[in-house]
Amino acid sequence: MSFLSAVFDLKTLLNQPGCPVCKIYDRAAWRYVESLHWENINDPATRQTFLAAWGYCPAHTRLVAQVEQAMFNDWLGTNILYESLSLYVRQELARVLEHLPRLERPRGRLVRFLRRLRTPRRSPASPPACPICTTAESSARNALAGLLEALEHQAEDWQPLYRESDGLCLRHLRLALTLAETYPQAVRFVLQTRLARLDAQIAAMGEYIRKHAWEYRNEPMSEAEQRAWQENLAFFSGYAPSDLLHRKPG
Ligand SMILES: [Zn+2]
Ligand SMILES: [Zn+2]
Repeated sequence: MSFLSAVFDLKTLLNQPGCPVCKIYDRAAWRYVESLHWENINDPATRQTFLAAWGYCPAHTRLVAQVEQAMFNDWLGTNILYESLSLYVRQELARVLEHLPRLERPRGRLVRFLRRLRTPRRSPASPPACPICTTAESSARNALAGLLEALEHQAEDWQPLYRESDGLCLRHLRLALTLAETYPQAVRFVLQTRLARLDAQIAAMGEYIRKHAWEYRNEPMSEAEQRAWQENLAFFSGYAPSDLLHRKPG
C-alpha cells in the first residue's frame, strides 16, 4: 500500500473503534489472500514462499479458507494449496521419521540432524515467517509512518482526530517508539495521550474492583468504570472494545 493511500485510509479508520494500524494490517492480509485466490494459487513464486514457510501462521491459515469462502463459497484454491503443502511437509516429516531409529543413540547425532533441519536450506524446524504476516507488517509500518507524519506536520487537523479515536494498540505504540527520531513531536503526543488514558483506566478499574467488595457493593458503578476494562484490553490487543465481549452464537 502506498504512503498516500495509507494516510487517506487512516483518516477514515481513526473514526472507527480499535487500533487504526491493526486495521491496515488486517486489510493488507485480506488483500494478500484475495489476490492469492484470484490469480496466485498456481503462481510458482507464491507457492515456493508458501512451502518454504511450511504454510501460513494459524490466523492466516484460517483466513485462506475464510476469504475463499467469502469470494466463491468454495474451497478449490484452499484444497490445491494445502494438498501441495501436505505433500511437501509429509516428505520432510517422513525424512525425520526415517532418521529417528538410527539416531536414538548416540544422542549427539540426533541433535546434529535436528540442527541441520534448522538451516535455511532445509528449513523445517524453523521455517521463515508467515509470508502474509510479513506483507501485512510492511503495510502497517507504512501506515504508522503516515499517521506519525500527519501528527507531526499537521497537528491541528490530526491531533483532535487521534484523541477521539481508540489510538494505537501497544504493539503499534511500541513500533512508533522506533520512529521517535523521525517524528519526535508525534511520538511524544501519542505517548502522552496513552499515559492519560492508562491513568483514567487504572483509576476506573480500581473502582470496579473496589466496588466488588462486599462492603461497597451498594455503591453505583459509573459507565466509565464498567467500560474501562474493555478500553484497556483494546489497547493491549488492538481489537475494538466491543469485540471483547462474548456473544452467544445464534
Ligand atoms: Zn495496532
Ligand atoms: Zn501470518
